[in-house]
Amino acid sequence: MNHIQIGQTHIQLLQGDITVQQVDAIVNAANSSLLGGGGVDGAIHRAGGSAILEECQQIRNRQGGCATGDAVITTAGRLPAKHVIHTVGPVWNGGSNNERQLLADCYVHSLQLADEHQLISIAFPNISTGIYDFPKKEAAIIALQTVKEYIEQHPDTLLQQIIFVCYDADNLTLYEQQIQAMN
Ligand code: ADP
Repeated sequence: MNHIQIGQTHIQLLQGDITVQQVDAIVNAANSSLLGGGGVDGAIHRAGGSAILEECQQIRNRQGGCATGDAVITTAGRLPAKHVIHTVGPVWNGGSNNERQLLADCYVHSLQLADEHQLISIAFPNISTGIYDFPKKEAAIIALQTVKEYIEQHPDTLLQQIIFVCYDADNLTLYEQQIQAMN
């Protein structure tokens, strides 16, 4: 199972590279400096070019970066997407440092930004499950549950398509199992 519909919004799973997605916004698992890093962050800046970093730097000058759980929006430079929403996931540190809530905040704040900009489609990576070491199964449950609740609580959302782009097969399997349990 790789699809679920809530109201007018389709939630889809796929395995691949988020930088090639043709959506209104792709979400970046950034770090709080907004200056780029490894993993999906590095891939987005490499493929999107310097325009993204320039806008991140302007945001840094204005507000000093991005706190964990928050999100900011920039151009997508050369990417096929129109925008990049940069959100900062929590570093997993055993689970007693509010990591679960902060991960949920990333999804909510990204969706809020998408709605503020009247976006119709958005693609998420598996935030925090790489370098930040969040347990993948729990991250998948939080991601899907949080997005589902957001859509249910915002019946007027313009978002029609929400894609979870799983990079590794482990994450795809975990998301498939979770979406099956939700249907
Ligand atoms: P974090 O620091 O939030 O853990 P990472 O970029 O290290 O961020 O990892 C987040 C997730 O993004 C991981 O599941 C990783 O496999 C995945 N990832 C890495 N490169 C890409 C890519 N090009 N497209 C989609 N997902 C990616």
